[in-house]
Amino acid sequence: MRGVPIDLHAHTSCSDGTDSPAELITAAAAAGLDVVAITDHDTTAGWAEAAAAVPAGMRLIRGAELSCESPNGRGGTCTVHLLAYLFDAESPALKAEQSRLRAERRTRLRRMAERMAADGFAVDPDDVMDRLPADSPGGRPHLAQALIRAGVVATVDEAFAKYLGTGSRYHAPRTDTPVETAIDMIAEAGGVTVLAHPFASRRGPIVTASVIADLAGLGLSGVEIDHPDHDEPTRARLRALAADLSLVATGSSDYHGTNKTVRLGQETTAPEMLDALVDKASGTPVVVG
Ligand code: AMP
Ligand code: ZN
Ligand code: FE
Ligand code: FE
Repeated sequence: MRGVPIDLHAHTSCSDGTDSPAELITAAAAAGLDVVAITDHDTTAGWAEAAAAVPAGMRLIRGAELSCESPNGRGGTCTVHLLAYLFDAESPALKAEQSRLRAERRTRLRRMAERMAADGFAVDPDDVMDRLPADSPGGRPHLAQALIRAGVVATVDEAFAKYLGTGSRYHAPRTDTPVETAIDMIAEAGGVTVLAHPFASRRGPIVTASVIADLAGLGLSGVEIDHPDHDEPTRARLRALAADLSLVATGSSDYHGTNKTVRLGQETTAPEMLDALVDKASGTPVVVG
């Protein structure tokens, strides 16, 4: 379907996507989007370039995707991703935590590269790190590219399946932000939070529905339902849960340029859902082209 208007989850080369922020906006226009959100992992470095590129008639939602640790509802913890929108990027506590997370990501990426090099892969940890812009949030897709350059794998998907998953011997953990802290920080910065791909079980362990109810009680505004990693039964379950908990329901592609096979605008959000998020936010305005 062409001309689908609102996609609220997209990455640029400021994190682990392959389009620059300006190229993301061009791609959004080409995909027929009226509204696109920039949601790089743990950084707002692409906001200014994206905002400057917005053409007449398009709107840009400035956001980020935060890596968090959450109770999993089964007595343990797991990683969740929080989409944060329309917050004040200059909020001191948030700025400090994002900076810490970026450093944590780089340390962890180097550790994974070192484990691969020690095992004989033609991956040079210094080269992997030198290719990252200063202070950027390195991620496993960067290591996937190194594995492709080394001829170890042919695609990013193959790299994840064989070497980069949480169960892999090369995988190294990160100390993420406690999810309740992240929700509070974004609320204090005037933003709103949406739980990204909460039931994407193919990626790793996921939370139970009761955890989502708890997060709603802590101020979570929405859940991402229509996501490429959710099948139809999963979407139906999440839709019922969102209705029960009065959460805003979103749909988005999680575009990463050529680092993923999804298309920008492949999944979309209903206009009234975007309006509900915008109404709750006060940290930074929607950019109107
Ligand atoms: P990290 O941020 O280092 O934990 O790496 C996770 C990132 O890799 C997320 O942004 C995912 O979108 C991406 N990712 C996870 N699994 C895959 C996969 N199978 N293929 C491509 N990208 C993936
Ligand atoms: Zn990513
Ligand atoms: Fe994510
Ligand atoms: Fe994402």
